[in-house]
Amino acid sequence: MKKILLTLCAAVLTGCPFGSPAYTEWLMGTVCTVRFYGKSETAVAGNCFEAIREIERKISAVDPQSEVSAVNAGRQQTVSPLTGDLIAVSLKTAAETDGAFSPVLGRLTALWGFSGEAPRLPADEEIARLLPAARLSAAVYDSERHTVTLKSRQCAFDFGAVGKGYASDAVKKICEEAGATALIDLGGNIQTVGTKPDGTPWIISIRSPLTVGPAEAATLTLSGDWSLSTSGDYQKFFYENGVKYHHILDPATGKPADSGLRSVTVVSQRSGAETDALSTALFVMGETKGIEWQRRNPDVGVIWITRDNRLIVTGNLAGAFSPTADSPFTVSTLPLPPSNR
Ligand code: ADP
Ligand code: MG
Repeated sequence: MKKILLTLCAAVLTGCPFGSPAYTEWLMGTVCTVRFYGKSETAVAGNCFEAIREIERKISAVDPQSEVSAVNAGRQQTVSPLTGDLIAVSLKTAAETDGAFSPVLGRLTALWGFSGEAPRLPADEEIARLLPAARLSAAVYDSERHTVTLKSRQCAFDFGAVGKGYASDAVKKICEEAGATALIDLGGNIQTVGTKPDGTPWIISIRSPLTVGPAEAATLTLSGDWSLSTSGDYQKFFYENGVKYHHILDPATGKPADSGLRSVTVVSQRSGAETDALSTALFVMGETKGIEWQRRNPDVGVIWITRDNRLIVTGNLAGAFSPTADSPFTVSTLPLPPSNR
C-alpha cells in the first residue's frame, strides 16, 4: 500500500494552527489533502484515501478497466450504487443548468485530449460529428434497476467536472463517522467538516487566476460545513496560433467555453458533487446567465473573476468575503434578493 504523506502545516503560509496534521496523496490526477483539527487521525486518513481510490477505480473514463469505461464501450449497462449515484446527481445538475454541465461529453473531451499528455485543436468537422451526442437526452439512468443507457456510440460519460466533488462527499462522510473535524481539499474541491476545537472559523483562500500579482484573490471566513469548488481557464490549457484553448467545453459548441470568465468559485451547503458540477456549469454560462441562475438559486454563493479583471461576489457571501490587499480585481457585490435583505 502506498504511504500516506503526513505534513505539518506552516502556520505562516496557510493560516492554520501549527500542528494540525495533514495527509496528502496524489489521486484522481490531483493532490488530495485531508487536514485534521484536534488530533492526528492516521487510520481515518487511510480510510479516506481508500474511498477516493475506490471511486477513481470505478468512475475514471481514462482507465480502460473502470466501470464507466465498460459503460462507455457498451460492455455494461448495470452499474454499482456508487457509480449510479454519481450518474444520478450528474444528470440532475445537468438538467438544473440547462445542459451547461454535461456529463456525456466524453467523446468530445477525449478528442481535445486535455486529460492526456498532448491536447490538440480538433478540426471543426470532428467536433460537429460528436456534438449531437453531447445532448442531455443521450443518457438515461434507471435508479431502481441501476441501469444506464447511452443512446449513441458517439456518447460517453466523463465525470471530470464532478468526480472530485463526489469523492469529497465520501471523505466527508468518513470524517463525520469518525467524529473528526477536517478540511478536505481534493485538487481545489474543498469541504469543511465541523467546527475547529478552538472555535475559530475556517479561512479559505480563493486563488487568483492571474500569474501576476498576489496568488490569492480573496479569502472567505466560514463556520460549519461548506463545499467550495473553483473552475478556471488556467487549470489545463494550450496555445495554438496565439489563441488559448482550455479544458472547460461549452456543450453547445463543443469548444472551450468563451464566456468572458477566468474563474468561477461556488460556495454552498449542497453536496461536494453538486458544488463541483455547478462551478463548471457557471463557468460555461458566463456572467449574465450565471447571475440569473444564482438569483433562482439563492442558497448558492458565487464568485466570478472576469477576463477584464472584475471580481463579482454574490450578496449572500458579502459577510464572509475579504479581497486580498493589492489584488488587481475591481470588486463588486451583487444585492441580496429583497426577501433576504
Ligand atoms: P477541474 O477538474 O480542473 O477542477 P472542472 O471541475 O471544471 O475543473 O472540470 C473540468 C473537466 O470536466 C474537464 O477536464 C472535462 O473532463 C470535463 N468537462 C469539460 N467541460 C465540461 C462541461 N461543460 N460539463 C461537464 N464536464 C465537462
Ligand atoms: Mg467542476
